Amino acid sequence: MTTDFAATRAQFHLPEGVIYLDGNSLGPMPLTAAARVARTITAEWGEMLIRGWNSAKWMEMPSRVGNRIATLIGAEAGHVVMGDTLSIKVYQALASCVQMNPGRRVILSDTGNFPSDLYMAQGLCGTLGQGYALKTVAPEDVLAAIDETVAVVMITEVDYRTGRRHDMAALSARAHQAGALIIWDLAHSAGAFPVGVAAGGADFAVGCSYKYLNSGPGGPAFIYVAPRHADKVQPALSGWLGHEAPFAFDPAYRPAPGIERMRVGTPPVLQLAALEAALDVWDAVDLDDLRAASLALTDRFIAGVEAACPTLNLVTPRDHAKRGSQVSFRHPEGYAIMQALIAEGVIGDFRAPDILRFGFTPLYIGAKEVDGAVAILSRIMATGAWDRPEFNVRAKVT
Ligand SMILES: *Cc1c(COP(=O)(O)O)cnc(C)c1O
Repeated sequence: MTTDFAATRAQFHLPEGVIYLDGNSLGPMPLTAAARVARTITAEWGEMLIRGWNSAKWMEMPSRVGNRIATLIGAEAGHVVMGDTLSIKVYQALASCVQMNPGRRVILSDTGNFPSDLYMAQGLCGTLGQGYALKTVAPEDVLAAIDETVAVVMITEVDYRTGRRHDMAALSARAHQAGALIIWDLAHSAGAFPVGVAAGGADFAVGCSYKYLNSGPGGPAFIYVAPRHADKVQPALSGWLGHEAPFAFDPAYRPAPGIERMRVGTPPVLQLAALEAALDVWDAVDLDDLRAASLALTDRFIAGVEAACPTLNLVTPRDHAKRGSQVSFRHPEGYAIMQALIAEGVIGDFRAPDILRFGFTPLYIGAKEVDGAVAILSRIMATGAWDRPEFNVRAKVT
């Protein structure tokens, strides 16, 4: 391994006494992000005022940062742009795909997909009418369900609950063979392991930056459009910053060339500044090293928990090829167990109805943290310390 994970770890602020196993949901703060945002606020917003759009190059941030994400997801340069939230980017990709594949009415996804992706598809079908429908099948049945009725397959590569990973190349190839397009949601892939959207045949890919990429709460999403489609897509969310000439203020919409047309409105400059700083950490990371380290951590956690906690049932695949960078266990009292863990400084999260979820992020988590988390979880399970009324009070965000 050539990546120095002690050096990457030193670039994050991690609170004292916390073992953070939730970077798959909200990455921790890179030290340079705080300084960079402060500078953007005071030196750019404060001093430049509206001149910052030109002088500080705020307007170019979505594609400048998008290009750095492109290297992390195996995309061609100039084909990724930042903006909005992931839900919005899912909607944009879906709307484009159904328009590019007229005559077909089915959006195919799986029951393990994140609800917002499914909700966006349902909303789009409602708006379109004309028989458009979302069809969901079990994750293991997706390949067989792709047929000539399917306009677009929408798949989240790694299941947010189980950590199960789909085979991008195989599903993309099957979709294309059947004349369907395919959208890959990389929410739990980007920054979790090497991704190859170009090699994997993705037509569109979307993902968020606040999970493994550490841009902070509310950080913008990214969207990739394969070069073969980039100048053909008709944006459904045809905002002014996706226009060919926004400052011509022409009343008629004309899409900008290529990926720029997937922009909608004013970019979130402060969040992009945080993301731009967060991406510096990645410059020194070899993604193959990251994957090897991640698998070692997830294997170690699985072995430790299974040895000490017989009532927790593993739901994450043991097969490395089918695993993302998280480990999940099932237990009927999963919520209370997770609250007890958090009270002891081990932060993971709970996903209804019964899943305890732990994310493993080699940039700042090592074997010592894994062993510490296993020891605390083992003690909580052995003593029943989770069985207290306060651990059953449900918070709004779990
Ligand atoms: C985290 C996540 C989202 C969240 O979408 P936002 O619009 O950023 O809130 C959507 N889809 C998937 C698959 C996710 O994992």
